[in-house]
Amino acid sequence: MTQAFVSVRSISKTYRSNRATVGALREVSLEIEKGEFVRLSGPSGSGKTTLLNLVAALDRPDQGEIFVAGIDVGRLSGSRASKYRAEQVGMVFQSYNLIPQLTALENVLLPMIALGRTNRSRARELLDLVGLADRSNHNPSQLSGGEQQRVAIARALANDPALVLADEPTGNLDEQSAERVMGLLTNAVRERGRTLLLATHERETAQTADKRLELRSGVATPVREMSSSGYLRSSRSTLIHSNNRGDYIESSTS
Ligand code: ADP
Repeated sequence: MTQAFVSVRSISKTYRSNRATVGALREVSLEIEKGEFVRLSGPSGSGKTTLLNLVAALDRPDQGEIFVAGIDVGRLSGSRASKYRAEQVGMVFQSYNLIPQLTALENVLLPMIALGRTNRSRARELLDLVGLADRSNHNPSQLSGGEQQRVAIARALANDPALVLADEPTGNLDEQSAERVMGLLTNAVRERGRTLLLATHERETAQTADKRLELRSGVATPVREMSSSGYLRSSRSTLIHSNNRGDYIESSTS
């Protein structure tokens, strides 16, 4: 059997401190094919950021495996994790995370510098794509929240990553800016045939995902809103997939 582009297999993550032990993810599995848009939903504290951080190799699971483009992401550390992120992953965060001292253009150039592939005309094209060609010399403080997030989308696409991870990208935006940002993000990713894993606490947005995974207290539940070829695995190893007539079929994989 060929491996999915993103393959998350029964991962668990527990945070331990002197005060408490928090089971942030419990045996979560998810398969994403190349070019798919997957919406990860669930209330605050349900484990969405934890899952994105693990897929981005910013942290490691306690149990289970994560493969992205055949890379054993769950075991990467240090410089290999940084290289994986620079080459394969673009990230968009709720709080934009732009460098305040740099201009919009310099923020977009930053990931390219990490790979030694600085390309100013490409950075300008990306700012143009997000409608900010005329703001390339502005610092983040001179831009609205929606504009900052659009710069962050351009930055996420700087190295043409195969996988884009977006963590509540519209969480700090008004409705109109949120719609524009979501439209830009999903269109940019789809047009390039890239893969998008987007975490949001909102149940619905105008953009339709190919698959949806809902987290509740770290436990994954498949949601019946998928593409004709889509399927999701729940923590109980239940496979839900749709046949080409759009009927949903449930089966046990264990
Ligand atoms: P979400 O993104 O859905 O809001 P998170 O993944 O941020 O959820 O958090 C899941 C759970 O793990 C929460 O209960 C949160 O408090 C806890 N958690 C997250 N990060 C840490 C950490 N570094 N140390 C301890 N607990 C954490």
